[in-house]
Amino acid sequence: MITIKTVGIIGAGQMGAGISQVCAQSGYDVLLYDQSADAVKASLVRIEKGLNRLVEKEAISDADAQSAKARLMPAGSVQDLKDCDLVIEAATENEQVKNAIFKSVCEHLKPEAYLASNTSSISITRLAAATDRPGKFIGLHFMNPVPIMKLVEIIRGIATDTSTYEMGIEFARSLGKTTAVAEDFPAFIVNRILIPMINEAIYTLYEGVGTVDAIDTGLKLGANHPMGPLELADFIGLDTVLAVMNVLYDGLSDSKYRPCPLLVKYVEAGWLGRKVGRGFYDYR
Ligand code: NAD
Repeated sequence: MITIKTVGIIGAGQMGAGISQVCAQSGYDVLLYDQSADAVKASLVRIEKGLNRLVEKEAISDADAQSAKARLMPAGSVQDLKDCDLVIEAATENEQVKNAIFKSVCEHLKPEAYLASNTSSISITRLAAATDRPGKFIGLHFMNPVPIMKLVEIIRGIATDTSTYEMGIEFARSLGKTTAVAEDFPAFIVNRILIPMINEAIYTLYEGVGTVDAIDTGLKLGANHPMGPLELADFIGLDTVLAVMNVLYDGLSDSKYRPCPLLVKYVEAGWLGRKVGRGFYDYR
């Protein structure tokens, strides 16, 4: 098993930024790449602000924040990731996009480097099979927001080597996270349960059973959820929620996973939630 020193992160959206931050805070050198150079810049600014806030709250020292910042580097191309020991893909939830990313990064990576995907739902076995190193491929499913949420779901594909699986567990623990191991079935454990619940909340709105406020207040005060399901959908991103429902619907062939037409309509309108300023709530 190689020692992980440098981690490449592909996709500088909300998850890629969070994973980069916790890796840098835990002593890893981090290279962050996105097809959009602006996304990388924006993420690095967001991470810096996040670290400054932690210093203000006295959760970390100024020296620790400074060294975490010094370990974070932008990557201008996938080629810049060539010396990484582990590459974590956290790009858009789309199998073709992820396959293309792994294909291009594998052309530059050393053979002993590991690959991980932060996918919310897509088969790790299938993603791994499309690379040159299925044995060194694993699912590391971080939760949002990464710096706060304690869990990393570990998904072992059918070809994942035991040493890769052990690396995944050890790596997640080195970030201060707790692990839960899931078998490689559509949407694994957390999203197999969570996303259909959100989809049902959207059906409840669609059928006029309750307003956005009534649904969210109902689940917060009636079921003790910290966030209402529609607020949570906006937080996750409605495109990601829809992508996960489609993976469940296609993968398990059961009509109970049919994405709500209102969810489809919101995504078609570009109302993707908090990240674009509009979803079930208006953040502008
Ligand atoms: P996001 O929309 O915030 O960010 C996705 C990023 O990927 C964008 O910056 C985009 O430019 C980039 N990207 C797209 N195609 C690319 C390519 N070919 N090369 C490089 N970069 C590319 O999405 P997110 O919420 O950060 O989700 C990312 C991944 O994490 C998805 O697989 C998602 O399912 C998973 N995930 C999301 C959550 C959540 O709550 N949002 C939680 C756990 C896991």
